[in-house]
Amino acid sequence: MRTTIKSSTTIEGIGLHKGKPARVTFLPAAGATGYRFLSPLFAEPIPATLDRIAGTARGTNISDGKNNIYTVEHLLSAAAGLGIDDLDIEITGEEPPAADGSALPFATALHKAGLTEKQEQERKPLSIGGQLEMAKGDIRFLARPMKDCVFIKLTYDYPHKLVGRQTVEFMLSPEEYLVRVAPARTFGFSHELEALKKAGLGLGGSLDNAVVIAEGEILAKGGLRYPDEFARHKLLDLIGDLALAGRPLKDIYIEAERPGHAANVNFAKLLLEKAL
Ligand SMILES: [Zn+2]
Repeated sequence: MRTTIKSSTTIEGIGLHKGKPARVTFLPAAGATGYRFLSPLFAEPIPATLDRIAGTARGTNISDGKNNIYTVEHLLSAAAGLGIDDLDIEITGEEPPAADGSALPFATALHKAGLTEKQEQERKPLSIGGQLEMAKGDIRFLARPMKDCVFIKLTYDYPHKLVGRQTVEFMLSPEEYLVRVAPARTFGFSHELEALKKAGLGLGGSLDNAVVIAEGEILAKGGLRYPDEFARHKLLDLIGDLALAGRPLKDIYIEAERPGHAANVNFAKLLLEKAL
């Protein structure tokens, strides 16, 4: 059995990094095709897989060599967090809408569209037979087998008096994902914003779709959603980036310290390489 959605649903807005109008329509997938992006501009659908990654600066981008799709991780996180196996994503523009900076609008739309099971062979789960470790500088990943659950322990650490060290522990399930992970918003530091905009990124960013950490205060619309919202957003990103492995995590314990998109993608590659 494989899971897709029952009916189609559309989300519109502007893209976080390019700042242009953006729209995605989630469609039920007829075949065992995983997550893929569709557009009349593409010669064929672009699968959201590790071999299509074109960049990991401030977001994970995929490409077919001609067309780029920026910032795919929040949307993929929602799909993977809800346990969806196959999803067609029709996209207008170069990136999905920033929405509120979290995965909640995507997750809610998918949840409302409803999930349905198809009589097709299950996706091969991603499990490992022994302990794996990956480290680069102060970034560290560890994975080991863990029976009957997917458990992620993630630590975000930033030397800022209002951030510091935050650790979140999470046992993956669609219900918990919706409540504890999907609402965590993306964030940036005010001192980086100028450089980011010069690099052509964050152009659609505002307090409607991001939390901004200034020197002496945190600017968050409606206040922070969780005291550890930053670590939870990093968890959201990690789930989205690991979804690019194309196989659902199973029976695994993962520890991630100071993860980012580049490291997440390398870790996904390592997991896939060592998978049972
Ligand atoms: Zn993110």
